[in-house]
Amino acid sequence: MRVVLLGKPGSGKGTQARRIAKAKGIPQISTGDLIRAAIAAGSPLGLQFQEYADKGLLVPDDLVLALIEERLKQDDSTHGFLLDGFPRTIPQAEALAQWLIKAGMPLDAVLNMQVPDSALIERAEGRRFCGHCGSSFHVKFAPSKEDGVCDNCGHELKQRADDRADVVMNRVGVYKEKTAPLLDFYRSRQLLRDIDGLGTPQEVGDRIEVALKRNPGP
Ligand code: AMP
Repeated sequence: MRVVLLGKPGSGKGTQARRIAKAKGIPQISTGDLIRAAIAAGSPLGLQFQEYADKGLLVPDDLVLALIEERLKQDDSTHGFLLDGFPRTIPQAEALAQWLIKAGMPLDAVLNMQVPDSALIERAEGRRFCGHCGSSFHVKFAPSKEDGVCDNCGHELKQRADDRADVVMNRVGVYKEKTAPLLDFYRSRQLLRDIDGLGTPQEVGDRIEVALKRNPGP
C-alpha cells in the first residue's frame, strides 16, 4: 500500500502515520524526520535545512527532492510506504508522480487530515518528544507519567523548536499557500480521502481504516 498523508501542522499526521505504518507493515517516511536528523548530525546540508525549519519555512524543493529520492530507493519501500509531510508543494507532487509512474508504483490513497485552525496551536504547542527513543507525548492529550520524562526510556522530553505558537502560525500560513493546492491536485486524480482529524488517536485511526477500504469519491 502506498499512501500520502496531508494535513496542517498539529493535525495529528505524525501520530496517525506511525499507527498506519505499524498496522500495514510499511515504512513511515517523514521528510520532517529526515530533515531533523540531518540538522542533528550537523552536516553542511543540515545547517542549510535549519535556516528554514527554525522559521517554519519550507526547505527548497530541489533539496527535499534529493533527500526523498535517496530514501525511496531503499529496499524497504518496494512493498509500499507511507509518506508523512511529503509532498508539500505542487512541484514536489509532480516529481513524486513522475517517479512512481516510472517505477510502476501508483499511489493508492492520499489522506487529508482535517482539523480546524483553532485546535492547531494547542495541539502543536503541547507536543513533546523523546530525543533518545523517539516516543511522543502531549502535555494535555497524552501526558507522560512523570512530567518531562519519557515513559519508555526515562530520558528527558523535549519540545520541537518549531512548535512554538508564533512558528506554528507561520507554518499554517505556509501550508495554506503552498500545500493546500495539493488537495485539488489529488482530488482531481481521485486519490483524496478527507478524514475528520478531531477526536482521540483511536477514533481518528478508525476513520482512516474505513477510508482506506473505501473507493475514493468523485
Ligand atoms: P514536519 O515535521 O513535517 O512538520 O516538518 C518540519 C519542517 O521540515 C518543516 O517546517 C519544513 O521546514 C521542513 N520540511 C519537512 N518536509 C518538507 C517538505 N516536503 N518540503 C519542504 N520542507 C519540508
